[in-house]
Amino acid sequence: MSTYILALDQGTTSSRAILFDAAGQIVASAGQELPQIYPQAGWVEHDPNAIWQTQRDSIQAVLQKTAVAPERIAAIGITNQRETSLAWQRSTGEPLGNAIVWQCRRTAARCQFLAAQGLTDEIRKKTGLVLDAYFSGPKFEWLLQNVPRARELAAQNDLCLGTVDAWLIAQLTGHRQHVTDPTNASRTMLYDIHAHDWDAGLLALFGIAREALPQVVPSSGVVGHTDPAVFGVAVPIAGIAGDQQAALFGQTCWQPGHAKNTYGTGCFLLSHTGGQAKPSDSGLLTTVAASADGPAYALEGSVFVAGAAVQWLRDKLGVIATAAESEELARQVPDSGGVVVVPAFTGLGTPYWDPQARGTILGLTLGSTKAHVVRATLEAIVLQTRDVVETMQQESGVALRELRADGGAVANALLMQTQADLLGIPVVVPTVTETTALGAAYLAGLGVGFWPDAETIAAQWRVARRYEPQISADERDARYATWQRAVARARAWATA
Ligand code: ADP
Repeated sequence: MSTYILALDQGTTSSRAILFDAAGQIVASAGQELPQIYPQAGWVEHDPNAIWQTQRDSIQAVLQKTAVAPERIAAIGITNQRETSLAWQRSTGEPLGNAIVWQCRRTAARCQFLAAQGLTDEIRKKTGLVLDAYFSGPKFEWLLQNVPRARELAAQNDLCLGTVDAWLIAQLTGHRQHVTDPTNASRTMLYDIHAHDWDAGLLALFGIAREALPQVVPSSGVVGHTDPAVFGVAVPIAGIAGDQQAALFGQTCWQPGHAKNTYGTGCFLLSHTGGQAKPSDSGLLTTVAASADGPAYALEGSVFVAGAAVQWLRDKLGVIATAAESEELARQVPDSGGVVVVPAFTGLGTPYWDPQARGTILGLTLGSTKAHVVRATLEAIVLQTRDVVETMQQESGVALRELRADGGAVANALLMQTQADLLGIPVVVPTVTETTALGAAYLAGLGVGFWPDAETIAAQWRVARRYEPQISADERDARYATWQRAVARARAWATA
């Protein structure tokens, strides 16, 4: 009787459960939307019970749909939205208020204060992170300072603080385990990525007791079993990784210089750096990569607005009716006709880190059409990615040989071809584009011996489409130089 790996993909906007077979193919998936809570401007929360309930319901839905008995699940792998932080009572599993979502800016002033105290370098050295409200440490501190019950329980050693992976594992195991993996720990701003442990100095800085934090366990390997009350049987939980690191693993990027880019709302580009943590001076994050055998690291760069620019064309300009139409319309013109779009709607990320940059359209003439603007918008996604790749290559000293792509926008063949053209390296799209869930499944499957070794997995991984560069190096350089001139004009625009 065949057995399966169940991947749980708990994302920002949905919880999904995906069943993989021994060939690493998707058998079926089910998901539910997760409601977003916006208590005030700049604040974003999730209800911890809703996180668990949507996740549990999607597990049940996928099992029902496929009529697979839970006994046939060899292991569970978990991947999750990163940095989102919550607190619960250890003895009862009762959540203490809502989870603070990664996007929430409530701790921005605290982070600015710490930066003014000169802590940026120390934090970067220990954690690989920039001092920003994005990460968990200040969110945990906020919970301790603003939820009186959290303080009481901390005093009684009955408090759990954790990211979403730890919360799901606590629920799945009937509150027997309080664990996280190094990829999630590396996003808390409390974890020393070189010493592989919570950092006493940072715990003291944010007033967090080590006892409240989860134990850090490997990303691959059995960490506990599901409580039979959850879905009838005790299934091993054997894989954990934050979403972007899971995607890097699911793309089989396991060697220095292997990189993947996820084309979703924004872009997240991670490049494996092997067993070496590479520090960054240009705003890349140094982060722990998921691994089934010993410490591994990656550099991470982010583009804030990628697919979101296509949504803007659709919803705000109304020049396309669907995201897919962006390709059709852009193909009506041979090039952007000199139009350059810099979609700095929310500032610019790597390597500029310029919150004052704003969206800009340059090079318009009376001959410019909406097709030119749409084509220039797709090119902007590609050119922002080139900015990240340039930065990574400079910092890591390793030239990328190809870029593996995933995320919703890889459906756009023009976008992918333009990416290959403007990077000058092949862009590869795999057959399974659910790489986040696939990475969690791989980690879990390796953890229980469902797959004997990484080579077996690498041999299963299939390319759906490979885009080779088709323009000259001169043209590539000229177009990139034009982009850089446009970025310079978009920068430092907003005055507040
Ligand atoms: P997320 O996980 O960030 O929600 P997805 O991976 O689901 O994102 O991808 C959705 C994004 O991809 C949207 O921003 C959408 O505009 C963009 N997108 C989807 N299909 C296309 C397409 N064919 N061409 C360009 N962009 C697309």
